[in-house]
Amino acid sequence: MASVEIRNVVKRYGSLEVVHGVSAEIADGEFVALVGPSGCGKSTLLRMIAGLEEISDGAVVIGGDIVNEVAPKDRNISMVFQNYALYPHMTVAENMAFALRLARLPKDEQKKKVGEAATMLGLEGLLDRYPGQLSGGQRQRVAMGRAIVRRPEVFLFDEPLSNLDAKLRVQMRAEIKGLHQRLRTTSIYVTHDQIEAMTMADRIVVMRDGNVEQIGTPLELFDNPRNLFVASFIGSPA
Ligand code: ADP
Ligand code: MG
Repeated sequence: MASVEIRNVVKRYGSLEVVHGVSAEIADGEFVALVGPSGCGKSTLLRMIAGLEEISDGAVVIGGDIVNEVAPKDRNISMVFQNYALYPHMTVAENMAFALRLARLPKDEQKKKVGEAATMLGLEGLLDRYPGQLSGGQRQRVAMGRAIVRRPEVFLFDEPLSNLDAKLRVQMRAEIKGLHQRLRTTSIYVTHDQIEAMTMADRIVVMRDGNVEQIGTPLELFDNPRNLFVASFIGSPA
């Protein structure tokens, strides 16, 4: 796995600056939640780490290497989005094998990796189905499967559970957490749900208006929020 370091990262859209020099260090194998109100820059930051969005200033460092100029497919990262974007005309197995096929992995290797991921996610019986024949939770699992087949060094999640109902959300939280405990892949998990962050993350990065307000363990943020914003966001009675 790999550490991720964000060094004074800035994002400007024309003259509008939306991320104002954010820094954070995520250790190898750590699960970090990135939280903050809608529009504070979480997705933008995540997309810059993935290489899907150009960095206006600063650096993203993965496993000790500055990757500002490295193409997304060469960053050894998998991203899971909230709208799972499965290919409707491909089966579950084909969806999961997609990245492996692009990487020209031999067919039998593809099959093996898809099989392993399917077992991990309880998708064994669904490999020949099409996305339209799956429930929301199953689709979300396929999206996870697509991300894990490549065994990336870093997982980036952008509100992956926000389209699911409350009960399923609780179940998927536990599944994602279990997967992390098993694979230990360095994970950055964007959510606007503080309960999700508090229950899943080793540490939490709290953002507001393109800045980092505080970084700490759930307990540190709860016991010692740096200001009223963090306190109210985390839900502690400061
Ligand atoms: P979050 O994920 O925390 O809800 P975003 O990272 O999506 O926030 O957006 C941060 C800010 O950047 C918002 O004010 C949003 O309107 C702005 N923004 C995002 N993408 C663009 C873009 N392509 N052009 C201009 N502004 C953008
Ligand atoms: Mg977002």
